[in-house]
Amino acid sequence: MTDGGADLTETERARILAKSALFDPPSEQLADGRRDLVGLSRAELAQEMSAIGEAPFRAKQLWHWIYHQGATDFSRMSSIARSMQLKLAERFVIGRPDIAVAQTSADDTRKFLFRFRDGQEAETVYIPDPAEDRGAVCISSQVGCTLSCRFCHTGTQRLTRNLGAAEIIGQFMAARDAYGEWPSPTGQAPRLLSTIVLMGMGEPLYNYANVAKAMTIAMDNEGIALSRRRITLSTSGVVPMMDRAGAELGVNLAVSLHAVRDELRDELVPLNRKYPIAELMAACRRYPGASNARRITFEYVMLKGVNDSQADARELVRLIAGMPAKVNLIPFNPWPSSPFETSSKSAIERFAKIVMDAGFASPVRTPRGRDILAACGQLRTETRHRARSKHVF
Ligand code: SF4
Repeated sequence: MTDGGADLTETERARILAKSALFDPPSEQLADGRRDLVGLSRAELAQEMSAIGEAPFRAKQLWHWIYHQGATDFSRMSSIARSMQLKLAERFVIGRPDIAVAQTSADDTRKFLFRFRDGQEAETVYIPDPAEDRGAVCISSQVGCTLSCRFCHTGTQRLTRNLGAAEIIGQFMAARDAYGEWPSPTGQAPRLLSTIVLMGMGEPLYNYANVAKAMTIAMDNEGIALSRRRITLSTSGVVPMMDRAGAELGVNLAVSLHAVRDELRDELVPLNRKYPIAELMAACRRYPGASNARRITFEYVMLKGVNDSQADARELVRLIAGMPAKVNLIPFNPWPSSPFETSSKSAIERFAKIVMDAGFASPVRTPRGRDILAACGQLRTETRHRARSKHVF
């Protein structure tokens, strides 16, 4: 890239971050003046302690109780003197989003509708691995979405606001509360909630600051301690922010591709008009840390007669040639009045074979949680307006 190109990218990044700030969440201060400690960085937690005349080691102690032990009540913090517990409780809380609705599917997928302090809601889905004691937590990054992907129910809900770092990490912590998975398992110990996928409502790279802060908390070794290999960020292709996320977070990357020609992708994923396929592929090729052990995932929703031809499959192979990549084929999950149909089984199999023969894994995603509208592209915040759902996972 020329210097001019780098400047342009920097300008574009600044523009995206400034626009994102317009949708900032409300402050984490409660009506009674107390402040939520969840979602603060370590440095911010230390500042809060110093502001009440406490030594920096208190921040370390609190971090352990909040993110390793999962405590939500200062009186449980047995290594902290009672007088100090009371002092903390006067000034702070350790919050969780409220569970407005929790539904469990016949296949044990569980969908939570979380309600935040200002009444806004977002969905989180836990997808257990049926063969093993582990599972993925699919979390939301925004209430609504600006991107209007045609096959996605969430894309029909206007963006209301970004979720804050506390609300993003809070979804994972509240899901762990529901499964009783505290303290955080350490080392190689099995985890029921073993991975985070940022594929819920919203485009994570349009809320980068809060997503990055929340994931930094998730990866901290003295707390939740989830390895970066266990976190996947899914983007529709916000190219300038992909470089930054790769450099700063180094988490796994998933790209909602869904079409291999610009004319079609412009329609299915309108963000393509801004960052077309060639730019997106170049950003994938330079994504740091991608390797055969950590492949980039390309999500591809199979839409009957739209993007599922053998020519599409061959073009896909050409686009990703030489990349450490795999392709997740997702049979379209219809939602009420959705304009598409699912590809036939034989069309999906033919497509998968072409991709596989070219040397790329191309698993066909088994729909999970369809009966509770928790499958890919079906999520909606269903209480008042039932927002739509999400990225494809
Ligand atoms: S697929 Fe993701 S980016 Fe596109 S509209 Fe849905 S939530 Fe937004």
